Amino acid sequence: MTVKKEQLLEWLKDCAAVFAEQRDYLTQLDAEIGDADHGINMNRGFEKVLEKLPTMDAMSIEMILKTTGMTLMSSIGGASGPLYGTFFIRAAAAAKGKDELDLTDLTAVLEAGVAGIVARGKAEPGDKTMCDAWWPVLDAAKAAESLEAALPAMVAAADAGVASTVDMRAKKGRASYLGERSIGHQDAGATSTMFMVKALSRAVVG
Ligand code: ADP
Ligand code: MG
Ligand code: MG
Repeated sequence: MTVKKEQLLEWLKDCAAVFAEQRDYLTQLDAEIGDADHGINMNRGFEKVLEKLPTMDAMSIEMILKTTGMTLMSSIGGASGPLYGTFFIRAAAAAKGKDELDLTDLTAVLEAGVAGIVARGKAEPGDKTMCDAWWPVLDAAKAAESLEAALPAMVAAADAGVASTVDMRAKKGRASYLGERSIGHQDAGATSTMFMVKALSRAVVG
């Protein structure tokens, strides 16, 4: 089993639907310890990606991911635009020359994307960021023996990663301005990462 280009397009389309649906929820999470715009940001970014989807039909996996990253980068204001933008742009480079992704490829693509987020945002484990969802997801992908097994394990890891952010004290981004008062709230960016991983799983294994 592999991830096909059509499934990646389906994933991006599903992300656009999910971020429209979860816009208010994500914004509410960001309102508690940020500036109440994360859902608006993700919704705006993926609406732009959705507009570009028809032009992506003829593109390679590399170009689909790159176009997504550049679109998010230019349409999302705030921290998450450059971070998710970099994720897709670095992921694209790791997908160069691939017509489909097996588990090893998918893991390498995600790992490159997450390395891009870290290069840009300098987050460390426990800083209460989207990386606290991405790292366990990556670990789950690396530990899995097949793509079929990897995706549900990645979804479970994303849920656990999101839950783990509640008790963390934010050290990066706007929530860090609150210090101790950031404790007890779920991180909005980790939550949007979880939604992306769930959409990927739906697109690949149903
Ligand atoms: P802004 O904070 O600029 O309004 P968003 O609200 O869209 O941007 O995104 C906030 C999310 O971005 C946070 O919940 C967190 O997960 C993530 N984030 C912020 N700073 C960093 C960073 N340095 N590294 C990784 N993720 C970060
Ligand atoms: Mg915000
Ligand atoms: Mg903002």
